[in-house]
Amino acid sequence: MIRKTLVSGVALLTLFALLGGCAKQQKLYQAQIYVFGTLATISIWGVDDAKAQAGVAAVSQDFDQMHHDWHAWHPGPLVDLNKAIAAGKPARVLPSLIPLIERSKELSDASEGLFNPAIGRLLKLWGFQSSERPHGPPPSRAAIAALVAQHPSMDDIRIKDGVLYSSNRAVQLDFGADAKGYAVDLALAHLRKLGIQNAIVNAGGGLGVIGSHGDRPWRVGIRHPQGKGIIAAVNVYNDENVHTSGNYERFRVYEGVHYAHILDPRTGWPVEGITSCTVIDRDGTLADAAATALVVAGVKEWQHIAKRMGVKYVMLVDEAGTVYMTPQMAARVEFNGEKPKIVISDLSTAH
Ligand code: AMP
Ligand code: MG
Repeated sequence: MIRKTLVSGVALLTLFALLGGCAKQQKLYQAQIYVFGTLATISIWGVDDAKAQAGVAAVSQDFDQMHHDWHAWHPGPLVDLNKAIAAGKPARVLPSLIPLIERSKELSDASEGLFNPAIGRLLKLWGFQSSERPHGPPPSRAAIAALVAQHPSMDDIRIKDGVLYSSNRAVQLDFGADAKGYAVDLALAHLRKLGIQNAIVNAGGGLGVIGSHGDRPWRVGIRHPQGKGIIAAVNVYNDENVHTSGNYERFRVYEGVHYAHILDPRTGWPVEGITSCTVIDRDGTLADAAATALVVAGVKEWQHIAKRMGVKYVMLVDEAGTVYMTPQMAARVEFNGEKPKIVISDLSTAH
C-alpha cells in the first residue's frame, strides 16, 4: 500500500489512451497505472476504445481513493483510526473502511490469526511501514517480544453503528496483506457496472479477471519466487482471482540474512522456509489474505489453514524450490521449463 514513485496517473493514462487510439482494430485494450506502489495493468477485451478508456479512468480513480483511505502510514482516515485506538478512544470509521475491516476480521479468524492485520506496530518496528527498503540490524528481541506479548488481534475490535471500539490499545490496523485483493474485487465490479464484461485487473502480486479473452480464457503467469521470470502459467476463468504472496518483493537484508516482510504474528519474526504462495479463488480478498496466511503457515500447517479458510487452489514454493500443491491446483498449472519437485496434498484428508 505504498506509492514509491508518484507518477502522474493522468499522464500515464493519456499516453496509453493514445496508444489505444492508434490501434482501433485491436480488441485488446491495455493501460497501466501506478497504484499501491506498483504498476497495475488493466486489460479489457471486446469493447471500443472509448468504453475501455472510461473503464480504466474509473478504476484509476477508485484505486487513488482506496490508496488514500486505506493507507497505514500516510496521513488519512486509517492513520487517524489507528491513533484513536492507541489513545483508547472509540472512533467513527470512514464508511468505505467498514467492509474491509469486517471482512478482514472474518479472514483473520479463519486463518487462526496467521493473517493478522492488527500487527501494524510490529510491521512498523521491522521498518515495513515505509516506502523505502529497511536497512540495518533487525529490531531487538526484547522490543519484538514486548509487542507480541500485547497480543494485538482483530478479535479486539468491534464496530457498532459506524463506531470502532478496541479493547486493546496495541492494535494498529494495516491491510497490506488483503487490501489489494479487496481493491481488485471492487475494480472488477465497477468495470462490470460500466458494461465491460471481459477484463483483467492486475495489481502486481494479485489479479482478478472477468469474462474471457475472446474465445479463449485469460492466461496468466505465476512469478518465480526467486525472481527468475515465470514459474508456471494458468488459465483463469470468469470471476477468478490469482494472488501471490512472496518474500522476493520486500525484505530487509542485514549481514547476508534476508528478513521477509511477512511476519509470523505468533513470534513477531519474519517467516522462513516458504518463498511464495499462490491462491486462486473467486473471492479476491480471501485469495490475498490466504496467500499471506499460508506463507506464515509453512510446509507443515498450510493444509490445515487452507481448509479452514476454504481455499482449494493453492501452491507454495519453499526455499529449496519444492512445490507444494492441492490436487486441484496441480490439475491447472503448467510449469515453465524444468519441472520442479512436487508434493501434492489433498485437503480433504487434512486435519
Ligand atoms: P502480501 O504481499 O499480500 O502477502 O502482503 C504483505 C504485507 O502484509 C506486508 O508488507 C505487511 O504490510 C503485511 N503483513 C505481513 N505479515 C502479515 C501477517 N502475518 N498478517 C497480516 N498482514 C501481514
Ligand atoms: Mg496477501
